[in-house]
Amino acid sequence: MHPFTLERPRDVAATLALRAQAGRNDAPAEYIAGGTDMIQLLQEYVRRPDRLVSLVGLLDNRIESGPQGLTIGAAATMADVASHPAVVQQYPVIAESLLESASPQVRNQATMAGNLMQRPRCPYFRDVGYDACNRRTPGSGCSAMIGVNRWHAVLGTSRSCIAAHASDVAVALVALDAAVELQGLGGRRTLPLDDFYRLPGDTPHIATVLQPGELITAIRVPASAAARRSHYLKVRDRASFEFALVSAAVALDMDGARIRQARVALGGVGTKPWRVPQVEKALVGGSLDSAVLRRAAVLAAQGARGSGHNDFKIELMQRVIVRAIQTVGARA
Ligand SMILES: Cc1cc2nc3c(=O)[nH]c(=O)nc-3n(C[C@H](O)[C@H](O)[C@H](O)COP(=O)(O)OP(=O)(O)OC[C@H]3O[C@@H](n4cnc5c(N)ncnc54)[C@H](O)[C@@H]3O)c2cc1C
Ligand code: SF4
Repeated sequence: MHPFTLERPRDVAATLALRAQAGRNDAPAEYIAGGTDMIQLLQEYVRRPDRLVSLVGLLDNRIESGPQGLTIGAAATMADVASHPAVVQQYPVIAESLLESASPQVRNQATMAGNLMQRPRCPYFRDVGYDACNRRTPGSGCSAMIGVNRWHAVLGTSRSCIAAHASDVAVALVALDAAVELQGLGGRRTLPLDDFYRLPGDTPHIATVLQPGELITAIRVPASAAARRSHYLKVRDRASFEFALVSAAVALDMDGARIRQARVALGGVGTKPWRVPQVEKALVGGSLDSAVLRRAAVLAAQGARGSGHNDFKIELMQRVIVRAIQTVGARA
């Protein structure tokens, strides 16, 4: 592990000032929250900051639900959010996506903001024995394109990077039109989570629109009828402790047997959580009949491109959408 100094600022203002100062001194600094991803990256020399700035005890961890929606403090743990009664009853897709993530031990320690900021699980990114990784070392190439790419993305890829976004709950949150609250030295701002993530393009090492030092302070999810009837379906190589090959977050507002409104986002297939508005549009007014759902789900493949080992995801994601909608449609 590269040696680092651990900073424990007393409040958010001091935290932001510390990061700004670190930037000016050209001494790389990074935040650490629950540490479940960061510690692995440090141990493997993937990240080598000179300073680590601990967020422990600084950010809100409250989970509040009201008529307008849900507010989740950045420091809330995955476990606390997954078991919160309002989340379970009114936003089941969020609770399910969290319970399908990682392990109880990790969920007890990991924060929601850390989850949204976790790095991809591309094995070439996480193994410094491979020199070529544009995300780790800009301009070095991409080992996955000529290597084993079974876990990689088929949507939103570029000639620089094909890594799939790893967070499950981000997929659920994007489906529900969630927003993130950010705080930097320049003040606060709120952004739709969908706009928070960047496509890799030619700069895959810049994964979000966060400004240097800017913090996620909260997640906001608007209340809706669709959120109450929602579901997360995750397909993976083993039943626990495993990332998604393909997942779907779906939320339906039904008018009798007809779909009044649908929201669908995909995980495991995109370089960011992948909303499929063309599928949502095709579902509106339709029934839950398999053939109808299948015709809509096919549209998810628009623009999809496999890299060889992951070609199967293009068909699988269509099936996952159909099954997820049928599951949620069968719920009262
Ligand atoms: C074995 C294992 C299995 C896993 N399986 C899954 C899975 O199936 N699905 C899934 O979604 N995840 C999975 N994860 C990932 C896990 O959910 C993340 O490691 C965790 O959520 C990260 O949260 P943390 O608080 O520990 O973040 P940390 O490790 O402390 O930080 C992660 C990143 O977030 C940044 N950060 C943290 N807080 C903030 C903030 N407030 N503002 C800005 N940046 C911030 C840090 O600088 C760092 O870059 C798994 C992890 C492990 C170890
Ligand atoms: S897919 Fe992205 S993260 Fe993986 S090796 Fe290529 S550039 Fe690196």
